[in-house]
Amino acid sequence: MDVVKNLRRLQERIVAAAMRAGRNPGEIKLVAVTKTVPVEKIKEALDCGVNRLGENRVQEFLNKYQQLPPGVEWHFIGHLQTNKVNKIIGKVHLIHSLDRWELAEELHQAAIKRGQVAKVLVQVNVAGEKSKYGLAPSETVDFVASAAGLAGLSVEGLMTIAPWSANPEEVRPVFRQLKDIARKVEDRAPGSKMDYLSMGMSGDWEVAVEEGANILRIGTAVFGERDV
Ligand SMILES: *Cc1c(COP(=O)(O)O)cnc(C)c1O
Repeated sequence: MDVVKNLRRLQERIVAAAMRAGRNPGEIKLVAVTKTVPVEKIKEALDCGVNRLGENRVQEFLNKYQQLPPGVEWHFIGHLQTNKVNKIIGKVHLIHSLDRWELAEELHQAAIKRGQVAKVLVQVNVAGEKSKYGLAPSETVDFVASAAGLAGLSVEGLMTIAPWSANPEEVRPVFRQLKDIARKVEDRAPGSKMDYLSMGMSGDWEVAVEEGANILRIGTAVFGERDV
């Protein structure tokens, strides 16, 4: 797989999808998901101007953080254990996977200790899949309202992982629902800013763009199939 070609094509398609949806392509951020991808291949993407990288495992993130240039904007997109918070805080730009109160408190405390504010998205398990982490839609408004009281945290939006489907049309309602939840949060949890909707992966990102995604997390369509 040719990373440069994949990226060029993907970027063109993102612009086209945004225009079709009547949106400004400039407001859609691509996070290239680099899990299992070797550093040499990631560098090809950086050479093409990609600057946002996403990892879902702490140790793998730390290895790559050391090996790649300091200008990279890192996104942590996986389930995060509370005892690993200190390893990544201050190194990642945005954590997409705040999925429980215990983690909110841990992130808050770790950030305060460093005199920082941790930027996070709240992960919502829209489809209620047993295999996935995330808050239930019905819990999300109250959760964000409470998190707004933690000075070390800045909740900047919501994230979801749609169920796998060969037909992306089938997951359109999932994306639409995440946007509806974000609207409810804005109405009922004053002061919380829902700037970002992180939704859409290689198989379903075009539908996500049509439904308002402004952060896409895309791995396979850039780097090819993962063997693990
Ligand atoms: C792996 C992963 C992605 C990217 O998936 P692709 O289908 O390879 O684009 C996006 N989000 C999360 C949370 C992931 O773990």
